Amino acid sequence: MFDWLVVGAGFAGSVIAERLAGQRDEKVLLIDRRPHIGGNAYDRHDKAGILIHQYGPHIFHTNSKLVFDYLSNFTDWRPYEHRVLAEVDGLQVPIPINLNTINRLYGLALTPIELEGWLAARAEPVDEIRTAEDVVVSTVGRELYEKFFRGYTKKQWGVDPSQLDKAVTARVPTRTNTDDRYFTDKYQFMPAAGFTKMFERMLDHPNIKIMLDADYREVKSTVRHRQVIFTGPIDEFFDYCYGKLPYRSLSFKHVTLDKEWHQSVAVVNYPQTYDHTRVTEYKHLTGQRHAKTSVTYEYPSDHGDPYYPVPRAENAELFKRYETLALVTKGVWFVGRLATYRYYNMDQVVGQALATFRRIDDSLGRRLPPTAARPGLELAV
Ligand code: FAD
Ligand code: UDP
Repeated sequence: MFDWLVVGAGFAGSVIAERLAGQRDEKVLLIDRRPHIGGNAYDRHDKAGILIHQYGPHIFHTNSKLVFDYLSNFTDWRPYEHRVLAEVDGLQVPIPINLNTINRLYGLALTPIELEGWLAARAEPVDEIRTAEDVVVSTVGRELYEKFFRGYTKKQWGVDPSQLDKAVTARVPTRTNTDDRYFTDKYQFMPAAGFTKMFERMLDHPNIKIMLDADYREVKSTVRHRQVIFTGPIDEFFDYCYGKLPYRSLSFKHVTLDKEWHQSVAVVNYPQTYDHTRVTEYKHLTGQRHAKTSVTYEYPSDHGDPYYPVPRAENAELFKRYETLALVTKGVWFVGRLATYRYYNMDQVVGQALATFRRIDDSLGRRLPPTAARPGLELAV
């Protein structure tokens, strides 16, 4: 008999499994339908011996000391600041758009103050910023929106930016200085030996049993357990009773090239050309030295594993209906990017999982009977 059946061995499931076993001495069965732990953050050595990310580039960054300190229990870190180039009008220029981007693209020599005026002259006033299009055109104007955002977003999401929530493109800022880092978070590191090694250490506890290639549907009635942590798609848990929640998928083409380097930075985005959105070269992320190099092309698709919840008002409405069901489903806690239908980064999922554990810990501490499920609340990280 297990105290907990944890469904999904990504960040959400692994963090909660580790806390339940390590802090509460609970007996945990952690399952995943994939043949490995780590969820979408899983990395592995390819045939050439180069560490690659099976599900596309995962770069750790956070402002949360709590999250950083927690993960530091299971890994050493390699300092890494992410830089991305976008191929626009035949040139590779920095994204987020910054002073160097504009000066290079337009052959100018603007100062930061001059760039402010230059952008202000192009920005289109928008009464209420609602969509992914509004965010960009109200900051940099329509021409730069078309060059950097419209095509990439249509490829990535399969819909026009005007149909997506503002939060999507608000992830990418605009800067008038020369800071070309993709993220400005306080903590920017990669796990020194990779994500999978970090997960292995996290789950190395006598109270945690791991079962791979195992779907919740097969396991739930055959393995006795008291409570469930569910980190898969919430609509699937409820047999799509209100209809399918849209998730955007990707297919990944992993290639090893017979040369030392392919591109000058870890990620190059292609907003105007090709079917793929971006190309990632892993050695920039990991610091690995190797005579060859491995890269991944990402092709967005509506079919395949669910990777991205699609931030649109109508989807949020549908999720709310499932969330209401979750609230009255006793003994099941819903956590993570798929189960709470939120476009969360890794650190946000870790924060959400730690917050959920604190609520579980409270209920166990007070010897309450299994509570009704409450989807993990967002933790300010
Ligand atoms: P997942 O990692 O999806 O884990 C859920 C697990 O549950 C999966 O392994 C799945 O197989 C399993 N599962 C689902 N249903 C069942 C079932 N019925 N039975 C058994 N198992 C089941 N975040 C960053 O911070 N930085 C980045 O650079 C970054 N890049 C990303 C790039 C891509 C292409 C993608 C897709 C995501 C990226 N993310 C990034 C986000 C990051 O992947 C997520 O925040 C994080 O991995 C979510 O963890 P999770 O545990 O919620 O979900
Ligand atoms: N985006 C874009 N052009 C770019 C980079 C990003 O249009 O060169 C938009 C696109 O809609 C993308 C979103 O901004 O989905 C968020 O970008 P991010 O790099 O955060 O995407 P993720 O790494 O989550 O796939």
